Amino acid sequence: MSLPVGKIIIVSGPSGVGKGTLLKRVFAESGLPLVLSVSATTRKSRPGEIDGVHYRFLEATDFENRRKNGEFLECFEVFATGVWYGTLKSDVENALSEGKWVVLEIDVQGALAVKEVYPDALTVFIKPKSVEVLKERLLGRGTESEAAMNRRLETALKELEHAGQFQFVVINDDLETAVKELTEVLA
Ligand code: ADP
Ligand code: 5GP
Repeated sequence: MSLPVGKIIIVSGPSGVGKGTLLKRVFAESGLPLVLSVSATTRKSRPGEIDGVHYRFLEATDFENRRKNGEFLECFEVFATGVWYGTLKSDVENALSEGKWVVLEIDVQGALAVKEVYPDALTVFIKPKSVEVLKERLLGRGTESEAAMNRRLETALKELEHAGQFQFVVINDDLETAVKELTEVLA
C-alpha cells in the first residue's frame, strides 16, 4: 500500500494576528494529518515556551553554523534586529516522507523562499480586521517591549502589502469563523 501524499502548508501573517491561536485550534479540532514544523530561532524563549515544542532555541553561533552547512530550507533575520528564524530542511523532508501535512508558520520572506523550492506548497495569509486590532492584540499578549512592539508593527505594515501573493487569505476577526475558514482551506 502506498503512503498518503504529504504536503506543505505555509501560514503567514503579521506578528500578533493570531496565527498561533488559530493553528492550535485547527490542529486540535480538524482531524487533518497536520504536523507543525518547529522552527529554529535565536530569540530568547518566552515564559511557557518549551524548547523543541514551540521553537528550537539556538545560540547565535549554532544557528550560524547550521546556516553555513545548508541545514535550513529558509532562514531570515525577521525583524532586522539580529534575531534569526529558520525552517530546518530535515523537519520538512521527514514529514513529507511520512505523508504528513507539514505546517510552516513563517514570515512573508520565508513563505516566498519556500515557494521557490516547493512551488506546490499551499499558502495562506492571516489578516487582522484592521491595524488597530492588530496593535491591541500585540499589546494584549504583553510579550514585547515597546521598542520590539513598534518594530513588529512596522514589519506588519510591510507584510500586509504581500497578502495578495498568497493563494488564500483568512481574516482573523471572530475566532470561530476564522478557525472554520482555515480548516476549509486546508482540507
Ligand atoms: P501570532 O501567533 O500571529 O503572533 P497569537 O496567536 O499569539 O499571534 O495571538 C496574539 C494575541 O491575540 C493573543 O493574545 C491571542 O489570544 C489573541 N487573539 C488571537 N486571535 C484572536 C481573535 N480572533 N479574537 C481576539 N483575540 C485573538
Ligand atoms: P515570534 O517571535 O512572535 O514567535 O515570531 C515572530 C515572527 O517570526 C512571526 O511572524 C513568525 O511567522 C516568524 N517565524 C517564525 N518561525 C519562522 C521561520 O522558521 N522562518 C521565518 N522566515 N519566519 C519565522
